[in-house]
Amino acid sequence: MEKYFNLHKDCLLIDGCKNSIIHDSSRQIYKLVSIEVSRLIKKGMTTSIEKLKSESESSLQVISILNELTHEGYGLISNSKSPNISGIKKNETNLAHVSNAVIFLNPLVTSDFIFYLSNLKCESVLFIIDDGVSASNFNTIYTSVDKSTITSVQLMVNKNSLANLSIDLYSKLTHLTVFSSNMAYIDLASFTYYFLESKATLAELIENNKKSTFMFSINRRLINEAQFCNPYFVNKLYVDKDGNIRNSSELVKVFGNIKNINSSKELLSIISQEEFENYWFVHKGLIDVCKVCEYRLMCVDNRVPQQRSEHEWFFTSECNYNPFIAKWEGEEDYKSLNELKINSDEYGFSMP
Ligand code: SF4
Repeated sequence: MEKYFNLHKDCLLIDGCKNSIIHDSSRQIYKLVSIEVSRLIKKGMTTSIEKLKSESESSLQVISILNELTHEGYGLISNSKSPNISGIKKNETNLAHVSNAVIFLNPLVTSDFIFYLSNLKCESVLFIIDDGVSASNFNTIYTSVDKSTITSVQLMVNKNSLANLSIDLYSKLTHLTVFSSNMAYIDLASFTYYFLESKATLAELIENNKKSTFMFSINRRLINEAQFCNPYFVNKLYVDKDGNIRNSSELVKVFGNIKNINSSKELLSIISQEEFENYWFVHKGLIDVCKVCEYRLMCVDNRVPQQRSEHEWFFTSECNYNPFIAKWEGEEDYKSLNELKINSDEYGFSMP
C-alpha cells in the first residue's frame, strides 16, 4: 500500500521568500524549514513517499526530512493523501467588541469604565502608570478588574509609582514592566508573573518596534486573525492620559473621551465608527516586505501601515528582520533593505 506524508492537522505551513515556517498551534511551537523542504511537504500532499523518493536526486534525504518532521510531531505517515495542508481554518473575529485595551491611568478612569469594557468582553488590559498619577487609585480600579471578565492585566509602571501598588494582590497580573528604572536589585523570586525592569523611558518602550523571535507567539487565534486582520490594531482601544479614546497610541485620531461615556452602549458606538477600524484589516499579506516574511502570522507589529493603492500598503521604517536574506539585524551578513537597494514607498516596491 502506498504511504503518504501529511502535516499534522494543527500545523500550518507558511512560505516566506527565503524560509518557510510550520506553525503548530496545538503545541504553540514552530519550526523553520527551507523553501525546498516546504516544496517537498506540499508535493507530499498528493504524491506517495515512494514516488517522492524516485523523483528526488537523493531518496535518503527525502526519508531523512520526512522522518525528522514525523519524529518532531509536525507530521505523520499515513495510507491516504492529505485532503488539506492545514486543519487551521479562518474563523470570524468578534469585531464588535474590544478584546484588548491600553489605559494610560488618569483620574478620569473609573470603576464604571472598567465595567463598560468588561461588558464589551474585553479580555486583557495594559495599564500605564506614570509619574504624577496617584498609583494608589489603581488599587481601587483593580478591585473592579478583579470582578470583571478581564482575564489578564499587564502593568507598565514608573519606578516611583511602584511602591504605592499592592502588586502581590493583583491575581490577574501577567506582565509587569518598570520603566525608567535604575534599580540595582529586585527580588525576582517574589514575582510569580513575567517581570521586566527597563532603563528605557516610557516613550522609548511605547515607540519600540523592534521584533524578535522571543516576542512571537504561536496560537490558533493569532494565526487565524493575522490572515485577514492586523492583530495589533484590531479590537484594540487606547485611552490616553487625557482620557481621549483612540484606536492605539500610534494613531492620533481621537474618537471621544471617557469622561463623556456613561454606558457600555456609548462606548460601543464610539468603537463602531468606521474610521476607528481604519487599520483593522490591513493584514501583513497586503504590506510590502511583510507579505513575503515567514513570520507574518505570528508577528504583532505596531508600525502604522501607509496606503499606496487599494490593496497596496508599505511602512516608512524598516523592520529589524530582512526576510529577503532571512537575517536579523546584528546577525552575520545582515543587510538592511536599504543596503540591498530594495525600495518600498508611496511610489511602489522595487528590488534589483
Ligand atoms: S518583516 Fe514584517 S512580518 Fe517579518 S518580522 Fe518584520 S514586521 Fe514581522
